[in-house]
Amino acid sequence: MTYTTKEARELLGKLPKTALGFFPTPLYKLDKLSAELGIELYIKRDDFTGSNLFGGNKTRKLEYLIGKAKAEGCDHIFTYGAVQSNHAMQTVWAAAKNGIKPVIYLAAIVPIDENDIKANLLLDRIYDAEIHIVEPLEGESFMDTEERSFKMGEEHIKRLEAEGHKCMNIPVGGADETGSLGYIGGITELYEQADALGVEFDYLYHATGSGGTMAGMMAGRNLLGRNTVIRSISAMEIGRSYAKHAASLSNGALALMGIGSPDDPLVKAEDFAPDDNYYAPGYEIPNEATTKAIKLLAKTEGILVDPVYSGKAFSALLDHVKTGKIEQGSKVVFVHTGGATVFFAEKEILGDVF
Ligand SMILES: *Cc1c(COP(=O)(O)O)cnc(C)c1O
Repeated sequence: MTYTTKEARELLGKLPKTALGFFPTPLYKLDKLSAELGIELYIKRDDFTGSNLFGGNKTRKLEYLIGKAKAEGCDHIFTYGAVQSNHAMQTVWAAAKNGIKPVIYLAAIVPIDENDIKANLLLDRIYDAEIHIVEPLEGESFMDTEERSFKMGEEHIKRLEAEGHKCMNIPVGGADETGSLGYIGGITELYEQADALGVEFDYLYHATGSGGTMAGMMAGRNLLGRNTVIRSISAMEIGRSYAKHAASLSNGALALMGIGSPDDPLVKAEDFAPDDNYYAPGYEIPNEATTKAIKLLAKTEGILVDPVYSGKAFSALLDHVKTGKIEQGSKVVFVHTGGATVFFAEKEILGDVF
């Protein structure tokens, strides 16, 4: 059984939610680049979710996460990420604005200069977050450092709860069942706009990290019975259980809406096509194809994609046009997930764009 966009909205409307952004975000055609590439290329501007200066995809997830935190009476919100995490910054801003104390544990990838605090970390400070920087130990990988930061956060929560506080623990990227509702709403909005324009997209491209955005979009696509091929371009190496985990998030989010059952899941791991061929040499490490993609989009359409996520996804889209993985004449939508603050971050992350 499939649902209409209106029915999907009604089901989502029954869940706790706090308005944070400006919706709908714009969806429009990129005429110059479409002509240059020989496809019909549209962009969904989720870099414009608002409502601070820097939007991005985490705002949609946080509407449900903060909504839940408020419904449960939480006075602290914990989350995690790299030092320049967009997710951590957006969580900090969203919590602060709702009178909830944000506490973040950030794993250091690039060294931090105390005399020159930049980008998301700077904003985290302006919003008065409680910030814990977790430096890597000798021989520790980034994943190990992050794992350790989760444990530190959990212990911190135990201490606060023993004092009578109520805390919400949000995973990296806001990627849990509640957060994934955000992109069931996001793709529903996209299809409403596409229907009004009379376009059916063959392909949807977006950057993936924690997998919450991808999980929500696939849940929404299947719920609405659409056929768009969703290509999720990873900003980091993908583990073997990546698609399986995403499917469990999709089905978990749908279950919160009262849809599906464990015996008959609406989303299967095979539905996903995560692609980690474009992130090299590493997470938060730039590459030449991405730099070129950033410059091309900036020069032709005036739009900025970032070197960590959206730029890498856009470089994949360009490569797929070149190799025929996107056929000429296809209708393609690129979901711009944000990341603008990277332009003001450390040179190691920004790369050679200037
Ligand atoms: C977090 C993020 C992503 C990835 O989204 P996930 O839901 O974590 O997979 C993509 N682009 C930008 C700019 C992000 O900040």
